[in-house]
Amino acid sequence: KEFVFMFDHQESAGKEMLGGKGANLAEMTRIGLPVPYGFTITTSACNAYYDAGQKISPEVEKEVTDSLKILEQTTGKRLGDPSNPLLVSVRSGAVHSMPGMMDTVLNLGMNDETVKGIAELTDNPRFAYDSYRRFIQMFGDVVLGVDSSLYEKRLETFRDEHGYKSDVELAAEDWKDIIETYKNITQEEAGRTFPQDPKEQLFLTINAVFDSWNNKRAVLYRQLHDIPGHLGTAVNVQSMVFGNMGDHSGTGVAFTRNPSTGESELYGEYLINAQGEDVVAGIRTPQPIADLEKEMPDVYKQLVETSQLLEKHYGDMQDIEFTVEHGNLFMLQTRNGKRTAQAAVRIAVDMVKEGILSEREALLRVDPDQIDQLLHNHIDPEHKRKQLATGLPASPGAATGQVVFDADEAEVLTNEGKEVILVRPETTPEDIHGIVASKATVTTRGGMTSHAAVVARGMGKACICGCEAMKIDLEAEYFTVGDTVVNKGDVITIDGASGEIFLGEIPMIAPELSDVFQLLLTWADEASTLDVRTNADTPEDVRKALEFGAAGIGLCRTEHMFMDPERIPAVQKMILADTDEAREKALDRLLPMQQQDFERMFETMQGRPINIRLLDPPLHEFLPNKEDLLVDVTKLQLTDPDSEELKEKENLLRNVRLLEESNPMLGLRGCRLGMIHPEIYEMQLTAIFQAMSGVLRKGIDVNPEIMIPLVSTVDELKEMRQLAINVAGRVEEKSGQTFTYLVGTMIETPRAALTADRVAEEADFFSFGTNDLTQMTFGFSRDDAEGKFLQHYVEDGVLPKNPFMTLDQEGVGKLVENGVSLGRATKPGLKTGICGEHGGEKASIQFCFDTGLDYVSCSPFRVPAARLAAAHATI
Ligand code: ADP
Ligand code: MG
Ligand code: MG
Repeated sequence: KEFVFMFDHQESAGKEMLGGKGANLAEMTRIGLPVPYGFTITTSACNAYYDAGQKISPEVEKEVTDSLKILEQTTGKRLGDPSNPLLVSVRSGAVHSMPGMMDTVLNLGMNDETVKGIAELTDNPRFAYDSYRRFIQMFGDVVLGVDSSLYEKRLETFRDEHGYKSDVELAAEDWKDIIETYKNITQEEAGRTFPQDPKEQLFLTINAVFDSWNNKRAVLYRQLHDIPGHLGTAVNVQSMVFGNMGDHSGTGVAFTRNPSTGESELYGEYLINAQGEDVVAGIRTPQPIADLEKEMPDVYKQLVETSQLLEKHYGDMQDIEFTVEHGNLFMLQTRNGKRTAQAAVRIAVDMVKEGILSEREALLRVDPDQIDQLLHNHIDPEHKRKQLATGLPASPGAATGQVVFDADEAEVLTNEGKEVILVRPETTPEDIHGIVASKATVTTRGGMTSHAAVVARGMGKACICGCEAMKIDLEAEYFTVGDTVVNKGDVITIDGASGEIFLGEIPMIAPELSDVFQLLLTWADEASTLDVRTNADTPEDVRKALEFGAAGIGLCRTEHMFMDPERIPAVQKMILADTDEAREKALDRLLPMQQQDFERMFETMQGRPINIRLLDPPLHEFLPNKEDLLVDVTKLQLTDPDSEELKEKENLLRNVRLLEESNPMLGLRGCRLGMIHPEIYEMQLTAIFQAMSGVLRKGIDVNPEIMIPLVSTVDELKEMRQLAINVAGRVEEKSGQTFTYLVGTMIETPRAALTADRVAEEADFFSFGTNDLTQMTFGFSRDDAEGKFLQHYVEDGVLPKNPFMTLDQEGVGKLVENGVSLGRATKPGLKTGICGEHGGEKASIQFCFDTGLDYVSCSPFRVPAARLAAAHATI
């Protein structure tokens, strides 16, 4: 069993062993890129460390020592050798990239003796002592747990005392002073001397990296991203190269394409004469990578070539870290770059055009969940607005919310249902929960690669960074821009794509699909065998959904047609009718309205299938609220006891009480309504078929699928189906036309799923109504469960996911599978689909594909994501 691999001998170990960073360092070494040499201590060594009670075993220790020897031989330097010292970085690297979660120590191997050697060898004492003080600080912070601001404060004081404005002005002698005080700080705070023995430095650091796997930030990050804790981290020990050796040196980070727009251009930042974290720390403001072309043309050219090589090799956009030492480029890291949805789509499509990816590969590069972002609102450009300030457009998307300055508070307010925007000088991993909770994040410091920017882009949240015009007073909880004061709780609107911040709320407009996105979705449809339909009740929704590529309507709920304020009086009359006659009269008034609804829907659909569900909710939903009525009646009794109005309201109240049920969702609703009051369904069916007749006459094809809801026994369906056939027959007879239509049912009670072979005898199709099916299978009331206990269940791991959002495959899924196979046993060609929230969700779509459904149906705005997810499921 091997615990350690040299960078050029890692073929046999995979990413799980080497971690992402180690695996990619090895890969870059193998394809001939300039990577400082080193070795990787594997994740199994990390797990062995924990198994042994946080101790490095003798085997691991021996392998590290042997590998160090190889490193020393290859570089010709020795750890701790004053005449030619090897300096290394010790870098954590888990399987999944966890930006900023784990700590890196640079310049390890420095001590009172080697620093002299470095000074002499490089003929640059200032550099040597600067590197040494950096090492003491990093080592103190990461390994010994010293608060690193203590070192920084010391440095600040020193600068003030000496009248220096920036670190560049400090000379070697100054750094020597600093180093002595740094050692003292370490001694005082850590209760031990700063270790001079480089071997001891190395092993203490390896321990610390292993320990950091379980630090609070790392654990939280893993929870947020569903990364299991048993994976462990690898440790990379790598010889140092120096970006802080003078004006021909520097360090930088870059994306091989623009991570915000996807444009094919090298995109990033660098700093001359700087080391490691300087770029991301926001201490000095970095220069855009384009400047490097002028400053170091050869290096820039090499960097561009390297990034193209890496993209070809990985078939994906890369996020790289590099250092230039005396004009020589070194690659320190590469990984698949995080990007916005817009960029993801553009990059995938461009890479097909460039021959890097096939269409299918390109589809897999884009996450269906992520492209939801593209369908989010953006600021209405026509609307008058007052720009407050601008920062860097770190992550696109627009958001409006109240200003908060604290991550905890952002979380609390969001849980209370408020919409907030987190405003911070900068963010650290400790603020992640606040970024998650907020609609958007704004920082005053840091660039496009700062912590806030990276995290927000990853989560698809709007973010603006480096908005320097904003001056924040965290204590008093306000910020100013010029003379304008914005207090906590004030509302601002931000546009992450332009970097603009505005005062107050600005209206948003609905998005449209870009040409590139359309193209990608066309590929998705070609690759996929699962249709995507939409849930839509109005012609407006249908138009949107068709624009988004819906193949048909999977669920048209007719109750929304009843809710119209102009119709509700007629609906109430229908419900409250004492006599059949009165009811017929009310229904006659509703009929033309319903018919018109269907005509418009059919015309918009142009022959695509449209699944119409007959009335489903309990009738009391159409009546006024009982408490409100009671108040009105009481008032009227006092003020106007003889009025007509009082009589009407009293009557209404009586009826509301009569219709009241203790479990309305399990009461008189769905097909039970049709069974008890067939005239309601009859009216709806008449409207459907008369509409069909008219639209057909205009030469437009119509393909309705009539869906009977909430069936639990085949006889209900049989009776309702007959009703449909009778009505259709009557209309056919009158108009002399023949109609093609389907009659089927929603499978949403467990009994219907269990007896699906019987139900299928009377059904032309099944549509799995997984909202109700989930509710009834669990016995969870959807309206109550989420707020009352479901959240706890998910947090405590009683349930892996909210079953109303991600289909519970183990339980509800079994009913679906069973329903499909029983149904198809009776009717081999039975059409099957799913409606309900799950129809637009990635994992549930995969399940629907695996189960052999013909289509999924989801809300119009989920249609593009669902088309992509359907392609992923098929590929
Ligand atoms: P993170 O995972 O937080 O990005 P890294 O291990 O990548 O941490 O290290 C952060 C930075 O430290 C790198 O981007 C690089 O600038 C610097 N660094 C790491 N190893 C070396 C090295 N061997 N030589 C020079 N700089 C290094
Ligand atoms: Mg890095
Ligand atoms: Mg239902």
